[in-house]
Amino acid sequence: MKTQQLAVAALLVVALTGALPAPCADAAAATDRIVLPSSVIPEHYDVEVTPDAAHLNFRGRARIAIDVTRQTQSIVLNAADLSFDRVALSGSTEAPKITTDAEQQTATFAFGAPLAPGSYVLSIDYRGKIYQQASGFFALDYVGDGTATKRALFTQFENSDARRFLPCWDEPARKATFTLSATVAASETAVSNMPIAKTENVGAGLKRVEFAPTPKMSSYLLFFGAGDFERVHRMIGNVDVGVIVKHGDAQRGSFALDTAAQLLPYYNDYFGTPYPLPKLDLIAAPGSSQFFGAMENWGAIFYFEQDLLIDTRLSTERDRQNVAVVIAHEMAHQWFGDLVTMAWWDDLWLNEGFATWMENKAVDHFHPQWKLWLQAQGDVQEAMNTDAANGTHPIITPISDVLQASSAFDSITYQKGGAVIRMLEAYVGEDQFRAGVRRYMHDHAYGNTVTDDLWSEIDAVSPKKIRDIAHDFSLHAGVPLIAMQRGQCERGEQRLKLTQSRFAIDDSAKAGTQVWRVPVAVQALGAATSTQVIVSGSGATPMTLTGCGPALLNVGQTGYFRSRYAPEVFAGLVERFSQIAAPDQLGLLNDTEALASVGQAPMAQFLSLAAKLPANADPLIWTSLAHSLVSLDKRYAGRANRPAFRAYARTLVQRPLALVGWDARAGEADNVENLRATLLATMGRLSDTAVVAEARRRFQEFIAAPARVGAAQRHIVLGVVAANADGATWDKLHALARGATTELEKQEFYRLLGTAADPQIAQRALDLSLTQEVPVTLRPLILDSVANNHPELATNFAIAHWDVFDPMLESDSRPQYVPQLASGSGDLSMITRLNAFAAGHIPSSARSGLEKAIAHIRYNVQIGTRLAEIDRWIGTGARSQDTDGAPAGIRTMPGASGR
Ligand SMILES: [Zn+2]
Repeated sequence: MKTQQLAVAALLVVALTGALPAPCADAAAATDRIVLPSSVIPEHYDVEVTPDAAHLNFRGRARIAIDVTRQTQSIVLNAADLSFDRVALSGSTEAPKITTDAEQQTATFAFGAPLAPGSYVLSIDYRGKIYQQASGFFALDYVGDGTATKRALFTQFENSDARRFLPCWDEPARKATFTLSATVAASETAVSNMPIAKTENVGAGLKRVEFAPTPKMSSYLLFFGAGDFERVHRMIGNVDVGVIVKHGDAQRGSFALDTAAQLLPYYNDYFGTPYPLPKLDLIAAPGSSQFFGAMENWGAIFYFEQDLLIDTRLSTERDRQNVAVVIAHEMAHQWFGDLVTMAWWDDLWLNEGFATWMENKAVDHFHPQWKLWLQAQGDVQEAMNTDAANGTHPIITPISDVLQASSAFDSITYQKGGAVIRMLEAYVGEDQFRAGVRRYMHDHAYGNTVTDDLWSEIDAVSPKKIRDIAHDFSLHAGVPLIAMQRGQCERGEQRLKLTQSRFAIDDSAKAGTQVWRVPVAVQALGAATSTQVIVSGSGATPMTLTGCGPALLNVGQTGYFRSRYAPEVFAGLVERFSQIAAPDQLGLLNDTEALASVGQAPMAQFLSLAAKLPANADPLIWTSLAHSLVSLDKRYAGRANRPAFRAYARTLVQRPLALVGWDARAGEADNVENLRATLLATMGRLSDTAVVAEARRRFQEFIAAPARVGAAQRHIVLGVVAANADGATWDKLHALARGATTELEKQEFYRLLGTAADPQIAQRALDLSLTQEVPVTLRPLILDSVANNHPELATNFAIAHWDVFDPMLESDSRPQYVPQLASGSGDLSMITRLNAFAAGHIPSSARSGLEKAIAHIRYNVQIGTRLAEIDRWIGTGARSQDTDGAPAGIRTMPGASGR
């Protein structure tokens, strides 16, 4: 699954272990895990569904081939929101007694006499619900080609919602084969994991579609969809690769098809096991979720349109990169997750950390100019902030109850997981790592694993063993901080001492005395090669380094740790900052910013470093710095020094902006388009009069002739204008939202309506979100948009209207929604408000999002206490020593986290 970027960094609360009664005490189950009895094993499901889309319900019939492994008097499986008409077991005339447990989401079929071990067929006729949020079996409505509203059906089962579609053993290790059939309107296209095997007309405008049997797989990977779709496709080897879109959207799917076609042979080679299904569909759905963007159902990957379709009129370079990355992520799961699956949700990171790493590796292979690894450095900052705070958790984390598993979809699982994989790959080398992954795929195909199975396969082929390092980083929480002390340099060699501690942004470091075995690459500036050492234990690790230049830690930035330098070494790095490679420039900025933000380094260190960043530095570094400025500006809200800060920040942003300008230039790098958008949006946020005036002028041109404004310009102009909207401008944008002809465009405009800096205008967007005018899945999105500038306003609104928003959210995002809106706040009283809301509305087992938000708010408050240092810098800071042509006196800014 690809989670929403917004829903970052849930701090998992490992709670409730054993607090709920287990449906069975399974002797074989791991301690405290709530699982189904193992006395009955599903082998094959024959499932037939007949949806009644108009009335949002369906009928189902399941015939399940089971194996009774030891004598039992009852069969327990998962079922949620299903009602049973008839249950029968082969060889028995007795109708079992049916009981259901709504809380545990199970059904028990009790028989009068014990069932002897052997094979049986369990037949169940049942009925279920079609929801209007993206979990279980759900409907999404949209406006079709004309003005008629159409309804399409989809499913979303990870992590535990297959039980809303069929009664089943809904645990990842209970793999079975599935044959699905469905009765749908004859005019509709039906899609599932496997190709259609048989279609028959059943009269009354209906057809019955039967799909080929799936390979053995976990229930959470089953998929069904039906609607007025069309499919564009291409044979890649013997695999039919398709993109399925709403009728009329075929052209918008062509970029996705090209991307998937390019990636499939790459993955076939990388994993050493060819993609095993006869077809692979990428399916685009209108609307959005607060929780996820895409889901890796085997052979039938689900995406919200934003993450799959490219509309030449609307989509920017950033959209193209995002689509490619999300496709690469979900396709990596076809092996890592689908072919080989974690045995239990404890090891969710095996799926998600690996896919997060692989999305960058694969896309970087085809598009090196996008610099995906440099981009990933930014994502890791969020994980490090979470990992450096109270409430963090190890990558491998106990999940006692599957209903809690959704809290594990966080930045630790994804971004830290991906960063640790990257560190281990860099340590053993690309070839050895891939050889281990190939063995893992080969040995565990169609099976389930735990994390140690992967380490074993890599250690079996690699001369450098990773198990100990891997254990340190996967079984323990926290971010190592590597500090360097420098000795004399003699005869071209310098002696260094490296020590480790735990980097923390609160008192979380007091929790323990964790030490790691940390692979650290060190290089003296000006030297040809780097040296790798393992820093371990609590004492100093001595090393000798070739070259007398200032030594740089974490060269190439493949290590998951923060770095700190002795003042004289840091001064040397500042002096030669423009000569350092981009990944290390960004790493140095990020580490210094993180340390300065919590008072563990002087702000002046970061400011002096930023001041040395050349105007023509990598676009991604300026992008990162601009985001930091916007975050800091939010901390200045309501402070007297805000205008001075803004003036200062504008002068800084002007440096790269003067180089990239408003309009694209022939031959410029792809990432320059993204940088231009970020810099102009930042200037808009900082109320730069010239940029705002120019955006308004271009907006008039857009209104007059929208088709003449290209997608990149459109995005910039609309963004700046919406952020600075007055009432009349907002009305114009609102009219554009109402008149939008596609779902993507609707989403774009309704999101923009919530971005106004003026709180009174933002309030109008909030009020709009209560109306039927806005498509139902976009309504919570408006509040998200408002929360970006006005977290208190949006949070209070959501709480006041919780009865309206609660039913619009899928079960996985519901507990996280309000905390997430509040997480940008720098007001401690918000914590009290959140806790009061949680007491009434968030179950105690689902408060990871709340914990995360509280940690964010405290962090924001802490950054607020550092602003005086920035004010001093603005007022009396050292003069810039720029050598890149910027006017004297320009100094740069630190950044803050919380993008
Ligand atoms: Zn994923």
